Amino acid sequence: MDLLSPAPPTPLQRLSNADTDRAGIQLHIKRDDLIHPTVSGNKWRKLKYSLRDALEQGATTILTFGGAYSNHLYATAAAGNALGLKTIGIVRGLELEGQENSTLHFCRTNGMMLHYVSREEYRQRHSETYLEQIAAQFGHPYMIPEGGSTELALKGVAEMAAEVTGQLGYRPDYFATAAGTGGTAAGILSAGAAVLAFSALKGGDFLREDIAALLHENNGPGNLTLFTDYHFGGYAKWNDELLTFMQDFRAEFDIPLEQVYTAKMFYGLLDLIKKGYFQPGASIVAVHTGGLQGLVKA
Ligand SMILES: *Cc1c(COP(=O)(O)O)cnc(C)c1O
Repeated sequence: MDLLSPAPPTPLQRLSNADTDRAGIQLHIKRDDLIHPTVSGNKWRKLKYSLRDALEQGATTILTFGGAYSNHLYATAAAGNALGLKTIGIVRGLELEGQENSTLHFCRTNGMMLHYVSREEYRQRHSETYLEQIAAQFGHPYMIPEGGSTELALKGVAEMAAEVTGQLGYRPDYFATAAGTGGTAAGILSAGAAVLAFSALKGGDFLREDIAALLHENNGPGNLTLFTDYHFGGYAKWNDELLTFMQDFRAEFDIPLEQVYTAKMFYGLLDLIKKGYFQPGASIVAVHTGGLQGLVKA
């Protein structure tokens, strides 16, 4: 499939079990994990307009940022390869050089040049002076921030929300999504929908401000409910309970999740449903944001 043309709508599937029935709610899953084999889920939605913008500007190289398990680096490398754009990844952690994991290996074999920096340097990734220096160092490439979360990304994600409303015939009361940089949550909010965001990182309270900043809202995003307690120890950390949950979910619904984002979101969402958080009659669409290439064998 051409990465930049409209994707066919991804399936929207009803999920029901004893807990959703008891709570009297309607739960659906938006299968954005099926959108593309390597540029998956929210990364496809978030990159689409930035890639188009890069090509329109005549860029030949894209530079972006990510950690060792970054699905964004993975998707950017695959997209660059498919579109004939060179890619450069600024990777957090000097210690990773020489012991690359499967994500970084995939990036490199898709032609991404990996540039490892210290955690200290990586922290400057939003500073303008630092970005100018990096741009000069790498020949002024088209720059995409960590997670691909730009205003153009919000536009792509908002299309997913509109797609869901079209498929259901009404706008759901809530969208649920995992959150890393908050770009996906911000994109759904920009479409006017209410969002339940589940932080995949420890100390995820910063997401509220980052999401507000992406939306240019000074008073904080009113339609956002942020859950910060389902991180399972932090970013890319998990335990046996989460892996068992993933297995059970797959057995029950025949849908794979992965342990970095989507399993944490579904664990949290089903926990809230069990605890009676939602009014009977509420409709929820949980977004499967993809990332399955990072699935661990449980
Ligand atoms: C990157 C990613 C997220 C986080 O998205 P943000 O827009 O950065 O909040 C969630 N789920 C999956 C599978 C991802 O790869």
